[in-house]
Amino acid sequence: MGKSTQIRDEVKSFKDLTIEVQDRGICGKCGGCVSFCSAGEFNALRMEEDGTPRLVDEEKCVKCGICYLICPQIIALNHELDEKMDWKPPIGPFRKLVSARTTSPEIMEVCTDGGVVTSLLTYALEKNLIQAAIVSRRVGPFTRQPMVVTKPEDLIEAAGSHFEETFHLDEIGKRYSSFVPSVRDIRTLGERNLDRIALVGTPCQVYAFRKMQLLRVVPSDTIALTIGLFCMENFSFDEKARKKLEKNIGIKLKNIRKLNIKDNVIVTQENGEVVHVPFEAVDELARPACFACSDFACDYADISCGGLGSPDGYTTTMVRTGIGEKVFNGAKQEKYIREWSPRDKEKYRIHKTEMMAKIVSFALRKKNRAKRTLGE
Ligand SMILES: Cc1cc2nc3c(=O)[nH]c(=O)nc-3n(C[C@H](O)[C@H](O)[C@H](O)COP(=O)(O)OP(=O)(O)OC[C@H]3O[C@@H](n4cnc5c(N)ncnc54)[C@H](O)[C@@H]3O)c2cc1C
Ligand code: SF4
Ligand code: SF4
Ligand code: SF4
Repeated sequence: MGKSTQIRDEVKSFKDLTIEVQDRGICGKCGGCVSFCSAGEFNALRMEEDGTPRLVDEEKCVKCGICYLICPQIIALNHELDEKMDWKPPIGPFRKLVSARTTSPEIMEVCTDGGVVTSLLTYALEKNLIQAAIVSRRVGPFTRQPMVVTKPEDLIEAAGSHFEETFHLDEIGKRYSSFVPSVRDIRTLGERNLDRIALVGTPCQVYAFRKMQLLRVVPSDTIALTIGLFCMENFSFDEKARKKLEKNIGIKLKNIRKLNIKDNVIVTQENGEVVHVPFEAVDELARPACFACSDFACDYADISCGGLGSPDGYTTTMVRTGIGEKVFNGAKQEKYIREWSPRDKEKYRIHKTEMMAKIVSFALRKKNRAKRTLGE
């Protein structure tokens, strides 16, 4: 994701994606190109076991350009997207920036920050504003998989970033990855007869989805609400790197109860001890694709959420669009969530200014990192 350009006249296809993304080592293995290939039923593309997309049969490629245009590492539609979403520098449009938290003790018990994401989805499902939500659930340390939830009570399984107490390291396989290929699950929505879906995802996932929406790729029209997560990086590493990570942070993965990311990586151990690990200590385990990514605050979401800038136990919540506002205001009115608003108005004003400054600073830091990676 980078600066805006116009769609070019010539249609680019998977071969161009190979040159511009895979050969540069910045493929995020999101699976979008394979899942939405127009020649999917003829198996023109295939996903390798490690998530790498491959062209199986060039003859079957109809050169439609979909795989190229929806790839999160391709910026060819930025200009159109920015216009459609009314994007403004430096972190996109927003109508409200608040620290908020859930009112549900059950959600608070398991959530990452203030449980706003889970509460907004619970509200939207219970009030029938959406029929389902694409979220992710934990399947091991650093490992999650996408799931489509239709019942509010099932959202609890997706909330937070606690580790399963019963996980067995040896069952997890050779690779750990915190990245969730949720974009692939959009493909299944048509078959499930679901419309009005919410998508929770990282900036790259929301960006890819918005491009599908722009191109009217079916069934992206069924996504009615996007809740984006702030994101500095995601991790993917093998057994050797796991040992290095444990040495770097001085904690065994099996002793980690909860992971959170704000100004740095916050590790809560089983014994309750909390350790703050600087990004630099874990940077080498981040996915290479993340270093080429320039969106921190999920600029194209309806609502963006993070922990940065909020007091502990609160979610920093940016309400960006009309639908985002409808869901946020409804959830607040019906007391699913509440805002942090100290009586001291001057304290509140300073808090908001500082929160905004932190988000902008992280967003610029990420943009500059992407420029360096891409040699711009
Ligand atoms: C990989 C990653 C990196 C992040 N980096 C930052 C950061 O640098 N700074 C910052 O302030 N905030 C960051 N966040 C956001 C922050 O950790 C919280 O997710 C956010 O504040 C929402 O908290 P909550 O308590 O409201 O969410 P909850 O109510 O706990 O809900 C969390 C939701 O996130 C979904 N989810 C969890 N893990 C993933 C994942 N890997 N991919 C996609 N969806 C997932 C769950 O399905 C659930 O719906 C990051 C989140 C992730 C997943
Ligand atoms: S058919 Fe279209 S989506 Fe599939 S590989 Fe060819 S250009 Fe890409
Ligand atoms: S980042 Fe995703 S869409 Fe782009 S080439 Fe890799 S798997 Fe395909
Ligand atoms: S930094 Fe986050 S949003 Fe960007 S590619 Fe990595 S996981 Fe996706």
